[in-house]
Amino acid sequence: MLKINNLYKHFGSLVAVNNLSMSVNKGETVVIMGPSGCGKSTAIRAINRLIEPDGGSIFLDGTDVTLLSEEELRGVRKRIGFVFQQFNLIGRLTAVENVMLGLVMDGLKREEAYEKSLAALQKVGLDQVVDHRPSQLSGGQQQRVGIARALAYEPDLMLWDEPTASLDPMLVREVLVVMEELARVRETTMLVVTHEIAFALHVADRIVLMDKGSIVESGAPHRVFVNPVSDVGRRYKELIE
Ligand code: ATP
Ligand code: MG
Repeated sequence: MLKINNLYKHFGSLVAVNNLSMSVNKGETVVIMGPSGCGKSTAIRAINRLIEPDGGSIFLDGTDVTLLSEEELRGVRKRIGFVFQQFNLIGRLTAVENVMLGLVMDGLKREEAYEKSLAALQKVGLDQVVDHRPSQLSGGQQQRVGIARALAYEPDLMLWDEPTASLDPMLVREVLVVMEELARVRETTMLVVTHEIAFALHVADRIVLMDKGSIVESGAPHRVFVNPVSDVGRRYKELIE
């Protein structure tokens, strides 16, 4: 499904992502972890070219996205759902209108966009509040609207960059529950950057640990957290003991 080869990105003299290679198979959930500034966001944003890589290739179902024109890229981006730390909802629109917006802009008929958006909101457990505005929703509910907005496109791949990082600790769980259901029950193909160790341990098929722009180890969660071979891995092991 997704195969990254030798990805490289620098900002001036700072090498943010160095020779990173990894893959995510269909139906798999892969979690990327590592210390702040190690290049997780840069790497995941390169996949749909929110950040332009300086080197390497990124194959999505055999297509190298690094070679696509802006126009071709637009098509690919519709197949990739992206959930960020910030929800970026539009305050004057209701939950369902927020989800519909992109679909309508893409030319879908309003009724069809509405049906798809309702179905997506149902998947994240928000069917009771589709007419609420963001200010009438909790942070966890707002983030679930953000997730529904991505799901409404029925993406082949979901990318997550610290989706629970800006939430009140009490609200983190409801978002993780939705993510776990997408991973397990719906067998969504997911690449997740998160600091939630319990999620990584119980939901990920594979963990990738990064440090200073490079992958320092990867493997099954249990192996990585119980028998780490890198300093970063050993630090996570201490955290769960
Ligand atoms: P965090 O856990 O804090 O989100 P991260 O692993 O996502 O960190 P990145 O955001 O990918 O880290 O940043 C990797 C490195 O690249 C950091 O040193 C960061 O300061 C630098 N960096 C990221 N974006 C830019 C930019 N637009 N311009 C210059 N430097 C940048
Ligand atoms: Mg980041």
